[in-house]
Amino acid sequence: MADTVVRIDSLVKRYKDLIALDHLSLEIKEGEVFGLLGPNGSGKTTTINCLLSLLAFDKGEIEIFGRKMTPTAYDIKREIGIIMQNVAVFEELNVYDNINYFCGLYITDKEQRKQYVEDAVRFVGLEDFRKFYPRKLSGGLLRRLNIACGIAHKPKLIILDEPTVAVDPQSRNRILEGIEELNRNGATIIYTSHYMEEVEQICTRIAIMDKGHKVAEGTKEELKKMIKNTETISIEVKEPSGEIMDQVGSQPHVYLTEYTDGKLKVYCSGGKHNLIRILGVLQEHDMHIGRVYSELPTLNDVFLEITGKALRDKED
Ligand code: ADP
Ligand code: MG
Repeated sequence: MADTVVRIDSLVKRYKDLIALDHLSLEIKEGEVFGLLGPNGSGKTTTINCLLSLLAFDKGEIEIFGRKMTPTAYDIKREIGIIMQNVAVFEELNVYDNINYFCGLYITDKEQRKQYVEDAVRFVGLEDFRKFYPRKLSGGLLRRLNIACGIAHKPKLIILDEPTVAVDPQSRNRILEGIEELNRNGATIIYTSHYMEEVEQICTRIAIMDKGHKVAEGTKEELKKMIKNTETISIEVKEPSGEIMDQVGSQPHVYLTEYTDGKLKVYCSGGKHNLIRILGVLQEHDMHIGRVYSELPTLNDVFLEITGKALRDKED
């Protein structure tokens, strides 16, 4: 059994009347890429801030590396790398000096630090930007600098709070690959996001949060087994009559049908040849069929079934 790196037990955090975390418990093992997935306002950042003792909480216990976490637990903090949701770098320092500064908080040996800073620059791909000041960097490059500052001291536990929000696809992929590489090199990762695709892509275990509660937890396969949806079929077709909709809806394994934006969507639970059966119904009625596809459930479907609402923000 891998060692427990983080144990959060019954954490309660209130902001005045708002209960931001309601008896949240989490256990994260060494070597995991642990995902905290939830919509904006679900309590991800609050969890991270409590975990790091940056925020006082009302109830509960937090242990990191088997020791109680406190605001002055510097021996624990030096083993943690934090990449905050809001980029936190010095505007008056260039890329290299920023990384060197943050690394210097933990690594005092100059030769070693030089090596570590160089490793971090290369790791995030900012070799050509060493002398650039933060305001000259694009959003994606700035995020990469933020990450370099958090990981340069080679921590054992790395916490990233929504590191890819508003980042271009190239930087996003680079960041996700970087996280996987840090994990391969031995770091335990805590990754928060409201992008289910990213969490699915890189996380070995996931806790789904909603309004300060953990609503589900498991590997992505385990989470998907918790819901009834096994397949969503989409068919581009002119608006079907009520009779056709009824026939499609009464096929075996179909539990919901809807027609929106020129697409017939058929939600299935189990069964094998759902697509063929449904296409058969449409063909019997001489419906002209456009593009057809079948999708496996996503974490969004899991969130939808458990909480009754979509995970995704409209603007994403
Ligand atoms: P997330 O990171 O998942 O978006 P947060 O942890 O930032 O969620 O917020 C959880 C809830 O706590 C939200 O309802 C948010 O409005 C509220 N909240 C966060 N920070 C504060 C604060 N400093 N004062 C009052 N309410 C806060
Ligand atoms: Mg947040």
